[in-house]
Amino acid sequence: TIAYLNGEFLPLSEAKISPMDRGFLFGDGIYEVIPSYAGKPVGLNGHLARMNDGLSAISITNPYSFEQWSDILTQLLRHNEARFPEGNIGIYFHISRGTDTKRYHAYPDNVSPTVFGFAFALPPAQPLSKDAVKPFKVALQEDKRWQRCHIKSTSLLGNVMHFQAGIDHGVNETILYNENKQVTEASSCNVFMVKDKVIYTPPLDNQLLPGITRSIAIEAFKRAELRVVENWFTTEDLLDADEVWLSSSSKELMPVVEVDGNTIADGNVGDMWEAAIKAYNAYKFLA
Ligand code: PLP
Repeated sequence: TIAYLNGEFLPLSEAKISPMDRGFLFGDGIYEVIPSYAGKPVGLNGHLARMNDGLSAISITNPYSFEQWSDILTQLLRHNEARFPEGNIGIYFHISRGTDTKRYHAYPDNVSPTVFGFAFALPPAQPLSKDAVKPFKVALQEDKRWQRCHIKSTSLLGNVMHFQAGIDHGVNETILYNENKQVTEASSCNVFMVKDKVIYTPPLDNQLLPGITRSIAIEAFKRAELRVVENWFTTEDLLDADEVWLSSSSKELMPVVEVDGNTIADGNVGDMWEAAIKAYNAYKFLA
């Protein structure tokens, strides 16, 4: 695959950075994952705006304009499209603070950010029928990450450990809750639940990432006249839900049929998921 590194397109195997890069030493950076289908990105403006917010939160000057980022994305898609004949391509962007001469915690002056991008095979878009989708089972854990989960930081050890706990339990993901037993998000996804035909998702704050799929889905649901509410719900509400879904750029809306060993409703993918994925699919390229 052809990658992007600091102004150059080159084979991924030839992309090299210094071990003194602060991304490597401190996880000091911001990243994004942008999905695309048949050459069309989903939520590009939202992804670039969130990247910009993350960079300013950690005082890295965004090295490029939206137009320049968009151009790099287009070129990465063009360079790699032959390798992914199904046309489902994810673009990963990573900006670290840069390479320093010493390992010292304070933000250094006079370093330029390291900018890396590569293309990867994205799973196909979700089918629009509940009989065709392969639902997830998930674990449930208290969130042990930090208090700035709204920043899409490359310091992902907390997320990685929560995700691995799910894998160790033989399930696909781990849903997280705070000390008040409120569901926040999952280790790499946002969370939705349905009760009595109303869709609920936690409101945005420092406990969760402002998922681009989440925001596109909320707008799509409103346009399709599905009732959606941004409000907290507890792990008890979650286990008692009619449906549970995850959202992320690579999984779109993913139905969940088992949480922490408990079957959700009758254990089948629900009708609301089918209405939701149809609404999402109809709107995703317009967002
Ligand atoms: N929450 C976390 C912790 C994530 O890592 C991600 C994305 O990977 C999401 C939520 C979903 O965000 P998005 O829909 O922008 O992919």
